[in-house]
Order: sequence, then C-alpha cells, then structure tokens
Amino acid sequence: MKGSDCRMEKELVKVGIFICNRYHTCAGGKCLRALRNREGAFSIYEGKDVELVGYTTCDGCPGGNIEYAPAEMKKNGAAVIHLATGMIVGYPPCPRIDFFRRFIRENFDLPVVVGTHPIPEKYYRIHTALGTWNSPLWQELIAPTLATPEIRLAYN
Ligand code: SF4
Repeated sequence: MKGSDCRMEKELVKVGIFICNRYHTCAGGKCLRALRNREGAFSIYEGKDVELVGYTTCDGCPGGNIEYAPAEMKKNGAAVIHLATGMIVGYPPCPRIDFFRRFIRENFDLPVVVGTHPIPEKYYRIHTALGTWNSPLWQELIAPTLATPEIRLAYN
C-alpha cells in the first residue's frame, strides 16, 4: 500500500468571517494568525483542516451586510460563521452581536461562533476595569477568545 493510501483524511471545515466595519481597513492579520495557530475561537478546529471562504464587514451600524453576505459565504461552502473578536472588544463592543448570531443561525441555518483571534490583553484590561462584560451573556460571548494571559499578551 502506498503511503498516501494510509494517510487519514482530515476533516475540512470551511468558515466565513464577519468583522466590525469600524475595523474595515484591517488586513486580517490577527484573525489569520489565530486561524493558522488554532488559537482563540479557532482552537475548536485543532486536528482539522480549515479553509477561509469568506471575509467581509457588517457594512457599518446597524450591520446591513449580516442580512445578505452569509448567503454568499454559504454558497461558497461555509459551514460555520465567525463574528470577529473586534465585535466584542471594540469601544464599545457591538450591541447587536447577540442578535446577529441568532439571526444567522435562524435565517441561514449556519452555526455561529463568536470570536476569532484571542482577546488582546490591552482590551481585556480596559473592559475588565469598565465591567463591560459583567453579565452572563457577555461571559458566554467572550469565552471562546479569552485564552490565557500569555496568549492575550502575544496578540496585543
Ligand atoms: S458595532 Fe456592530 S453593527 Fe456597528 S459596525 Fe461594528 S459590528 Fe457593525
């Protein structure tokens, strides 16, 4: 048997990412790094192959692109939609993020993961001081990208 025949096929997950339009000039450096390293919210893909099949902004408050772009991502094979970490760490964080994730799940039948790269430590510090995330909902929203202090520092 040839070597290639023995290799286990890894599961391939195709994902789409929405970023907050406030960061519309972002080149995706932190998200792509975290995707490559399987850090932050991408740690759920450890041991799997991941392909990014869509990357766009919400198009600015109140997020009109959320109504349309998931369909394009799904057409391109997206099986999971990520709402970027910028939406939870911005000053202020996106007030619509919980609606977005419920809407995308309901309207496009796609699972939604809140977060992409680990929360940078500088944002973690300020939001902790401000008490921004002091609610059960926000604790749930930031959980996938909390990481460790060391990793948060590495994403500052
Ligand atoms: S705060 Fe929310 S709706 Fe407004 S631009 Fe950012 S992600 Fe979009």
